[in-house]
Amino acid sequence: MTDKDPLPALAGDEPVSVLPGVGPKAEQLLARLGIAQVRDLWFHLPLRYEDRTRLAAIAGLVPGQPAQILVRVVAVEHGFRFRPFLRVTVADDAGHQLLLRFFHFNRNQALGFKPGQRLLCFGEPRLGPNGLEMVHANYRTLPDEGEPSLDQRQRPVYPTTQGLDNRRLAGWVAAALRGLDSDRLPEALPAHWLAQRGWPALIPALHLVHTPPAGTSVAELAEGQHPAQQRLVFEELLAHQLSLKRHRASLHHLRAPVLRGSGELSGRLLAGLGFELTCAQRRVAAEIADDLAAGRPMLRLVQGDVGSGKTVVAALAAAQAIEAGCQVAVMAPTELLARQHERNFAAWFTPLGLTPVWLTGRIKGRARERALADIAGGAPLALGTHALMQEGVEFARLGLAIVDEQHRFGVHQRLALRDKGIADGEVPHQLVMTATPIPRTLAMAAYADLDLSVIDELPPGRTPVTTVAIAGTRLDEVVARIGAACSAGRQAYWVCTLIEESETLQAQAAEQRYEQLAAALPHLRVGLVHGRMKGADKEAAMAAFQSGDTDLLVATTVIEVGVDVPRASLMVIENAERLGLAQLHQLRGRVGRGRTESACVLLYQAPLSALARQRLDILRQSNDGFRIAQEDLELRGPGELLGTRQTGLAGFRIANLVRDAQLLPAVAELAESLVGSDGDNVDILIRRWVGQAERYAGA
Ligand code: ADP
Ligand code: MG
Repeated sequence: MTDKDPLPALAGDEPVSVLPGVGPKAEQLLARLGIAQVRDLWFHLPLRYEDRTRLAAIAGLVPGQPAQILVRVVAVEHGFRFRPFLRVTVADDAGHQLLLRFFHFNRNQALGFKPGQRLLCFGEPRLGPNGLEMVHANYRTLPDEGEPSLDQRQRPVYPTTQGLDNRRLAGWVAAALRGLDSDRLPEALPAHWLAQRGWPALIPALHLVHTPPAGTSVAELAEGQHPAQQRLVFEELLAHQLSLKRHRASLHHLRAPVLRGSGELSGRLLAGLGFELTCAQRRVAAEIADDLAAGRPMLRLVQGDVGSGKTVVAALAAAQAIEAGCQVAVMAPTELLARQHERNFAAWFTPLGLTPVWLTGRIKGRARERALADIAGGAPLALGTHALMQEGVEFARLGLAIVDEQHRFGVHQRLALRDKGIADGEVPHQLVMTATPIPRTLAMAAYADLDLSVIDELPPGRTPVTTVAIAGTRLDEVVARIGAACSAGRQAYWVCTLIEESETLQAQAAEQRYEQLAAALPHLRVGLVHGRMKGADKEAAMAAFQSGDTDLLVATTVIEVGVDVPRASLMVIENAERLGLAQLHQLRGRVGRGRTESACVLLYQAPLSALARQRLDILRQSNDGFRIAQEDLELRGPGELLGTRQTGLAGFRIANLVRDAQLLPAVAELAESLVGSDGDNVDILIRRWVGQAERYAGA
């Protein structure tokens, strides 16, 4: 069979090996892209397009904009100075020159360039030290005479994997498309909905997106604004929304314990606090109290800026559940944060006669057995890390699970809880707290399965943090100022950050800085905390800082989430220009918790790009987490805000929540009406777009 033979109509669920040219090795490569069946190729959509239908003149090239040029080789130079290099100077008919540069090439390739030879090149021009250049341009040698044959259409560029070039992949997609049949891939959007917007039906939309015909607007395609793309994006967003809604509905069909107490315990808790709740805290606490008493599983997300006082709200919910005779589990993503909750909860509940049980992965042997026995025996309050949800932990009657800083957990853990269901087919209520304020549009798309409460008010008496940005070249000055402030009795964090996720590298950076600062400031007590330290050492370092025994705490981003030392009023953050705004805001939220005037120094590596400056400025000007998150969303995209671990969001194939946010209200509207009336199409859409993630949700 050759490439051009028409395939019989494909059902879609055949293995990709039915396609010509797809052998066992190709099958493996495709599997890495999540492509197993023919239908997966239909929905493997281009990332972008290359326009090789036209020729550009070198004089008209714009740095950063890919283009195709017809040139002759002028000079070739190759060798190994520090590393292999190949530089080919080329010129077009008008005599303008450009440099082709290669760092990876083989000998034959290098010898293949001869002065005078004609080349057809495609690449992204950029401004090098000696004028325009293209690095690793695509090229083809041409005979000396004659018109080059140019593409008739925009060329799709697919997401691919090492060992699989775009041309082969595109060939298989094209083969799969030849067998695409509308009986196999039914339209799932209402006809009037498409007509109203001037959107094409599914099959023509797929054809257009994979192989845009000549005359398709290049600009529209590049921006993702072509009606065929918008239609597919809409369908994808809709499918995710439906899947989350279905998840939520499946929860709501389950029963949960009715948690209604006399309010006596929470009353005593409130009385012991020593402060009044803010209006926002009271409102959110009331929303939770209603949920807990409703007999359906609560799944509520509490958002609140750093320092807005989410912990007390969680404690009130816990009190209500305990009073109703249920157990409560409180979980945090890191040991450090879990320990802090444990301290808070112990301070609030122990005077009321309730001592929390503590369980993390680190608790072993006898202590673990004792904790497990207590939990199985019905201890009212258990605190710890996600170890509380793992196998082997049996609750007698778990009624409420509280999860702090949810974006660090992800969907897996959210669902694992259901298995900890209590007797009689009832499942526990879930309260999720996050300090990353998520803009509304994003929350709608990401958390359609959660109810949302927002604590949009800070406790009184907070002084906003003054933020300054200072170049790293002035490090000595900053050290001296921190030294002076700490000598005068203040406490400071020094946060070492690296762009790498590697905890080892972060730890090394922190250790080095710790040595330097301890040497430079011998009159201060300097502490160190990072992720590679033993748990007990971490706790000791935190406790020493908390009690004021250390003045200056050198730390990695382990302190990002939730650490609460109200007396600390200064913070230095290194490499600030490389972090997300939301993350910087989180870090900065560790200071400004007490009544002292607080300050945060953002140290950056000069020179700053214009964008980086703009981002740091936002942080200098605002202490409002929601505004900062919105800006971060616009500047960096949703992955940064939610963490890539967020299944079902990182999983979008073509939708881009920032670019496509304007579609979300219509998505919500149609989702609402389909869920009620059109189960078949809901099934089709979820299976078509969500697949894997849905398998979790349905688990
Ligand atoms: P976050 O929302 O960041 O988790 P916390 O719950 O850690 O914030 O609260 C931050 C600090 O504010 C804690 O020291 C807490 O005791 C205190 N706090 C909480 N609510 C109030 C309030 N209504 N008035 C005064 N202080 C409060
Ligand atoms: Mg907190």
